[in-house]
Amino acid sequence: MRIPLDPHSSQPLYRQIEDYLRQAIRSGSLPPETRLPATRQLAEDLGVSRITVKNAYAELESDGLIASRPGSGTYVSPPLLAPASPDRPADIRWPLWQQDLPAVEAPAIAKPPGRDLNARAHPDPIAFTGVGDPGQFPVRNFLKSIQTVIRRDGVAALEYSGFDGGYDPLRETITQVLASQGIRAQPEHVLVTAGSQQALALACQVLLKSGDAVLVENPTYNFALELFRTRAVKLVGVPIDEAGMQVERVETLLQQHHPRLIYTIPNFQNPSGACLSVERRRQLLALAERYNIPILEDDFVGDLRYDGRALPAIKALDPGGRVIYIGTFSKMLMPGLRVGFLAAEGPVYDHLLRSKLVHDLITSTLMQRTLDDYVTIGRYQTHLRRSVRLYRKRRDAMLEAIRRHLPTGVSFQSPQGGLFIWLELPEDVSALELAPFAEQQGVGYSPGSLFFVEPAQGEGYLRLNFATQDSQRIEEGIRRLGEAMHRLRQAAR
Ligand code: PMP
Repeated sequence: MRIPLDPHSSQPLYRQIEDYLRQAIRSGSLPPETRLPATRQLAEDLGVSRITVKNAYAELESDGLIASRPGSGTYVSPPLLAPASPDRPADIRWPLWQQDLPAVEAPAIAKPPGRDLNARAHPDPIAFTGVGDPGQFPVRNFLKSIQTVIRRDGVAALEYSGFDGGYDPLRETITQVLASQGIRAQPEHVLVTAGSQQALALACQVLLKSGDAVLVENPTYNFALELFRTRAVKLVGVPIDEAGMQVERVETLLQQHHPRLIYTIPNFQNPSGACLSVERRRQLLALAERYNIPILEDDFVGDLRYDGRALPAIKALDPGGRVIYIGTFSKMLMPGLRVGFLAAEGPVYDHLLRSKLVHDLITSTLMQRTLDDYVTIGRYQTHLRRSVRLYRKRRDAMLEAIRRHLPTGVSFQSPQGGLFIWLELPEDVSALELAPFAEQQGVGYSPGSLFFVEPAQGEGYLRLNFATQDSQRIEEGIRRLGEAMHRLRQAAR
């Protein structure tokens, strides 16, 4: 344990040790049941006498913060024995520069809504949130790939490498995945990132400065909105319909707002599930060309298609350098891998690469190699086929349950793929007022307000993830949602 001590301070050394440990215990960084170092060990580590450490421990023990167990050691006491004190984190007097930071709504980031369903309100909550079903993660096969890589590559798997955009074999594999989607990219145009969220952030960093305007679908992916907001850009929302962004409206908006970037999720859009029609894809590209604006194409679940024909990526229509394409292994495989990528050509690639380097140098070498082994060996395609079969069933189960249990006046489209069903509520049901009733019934969802440029525009919408629960729980969860709507209406009478 390293405790900063000041031998010139007027405060005795044992007090400095005591204060440090007291703070650490009260802030939770030394949680209950943590074993403290033996006095002899700590005295050696700190270069002080043993009696100094003993005195510090004795003070803490007499305050009930730690307790020694004969023959075992000294442990941090449970919180009941550690009385609340004025130096809890909430009471710390922050320096002025910290106090000057503007308030941010951390809960939206720390606790995705619907996932923090109050378990006390219901013993068995069902949350239609998240991304894929963790029960389907190919854990065993992935473990085999990790073992293969470590055995095969040894320390190389644990070194820094791939400073020019990632692990080369993975970049080649990604190129092949892209080719199967009609995108002709070269490995040197592929940059491996820490999830596609980082790819979004790098594009923002490189292309936008504060005050610039960005054109987005409205509604759109909430953490893209959050990202743009942190960059203090002006968000210009384009309404969507069942064929995605209403591109017919875009030209006027380009003339009015002169955006520096167009952000779009053309396949199974988050949150609406809509697919941008081929015609609109072409029109959007033509407009971007005419007005000299880059397109950021976020294809987060492009491979999860359950019916209909695959549509060409906008990137596949790009003669070169107009579109920055973003993909991820999070939804098709596992979000915790934190491996995504972007494909871009021209000078912008070098800017994106430089931005990547200064942010985190490289994406985990071990993860990149493991993912490459897993994907190359064909398990990825098998896993993908299985996920498509399973999620199609769940989508159908949810559509049926919605028809069966939700009141008339609820409207929705059947998504051809992806993860979400976007519900428009009847006029007399607001997502905000529904929340306590849904919580009581034990059903969670993402409220529409998260996804709009102006959150109030989302009052009449909910996003439901159909991929994370099995058919039985989907049926039960939607029944509960119907019941919550019914109770809200009764209460409003
Ligand atoms: N784009 C969209 C549309 C998303 O929904 C998400 C996450 N849910 C991301 C990007 C980022 O995902 P990741 O960083 O895990 O690739």
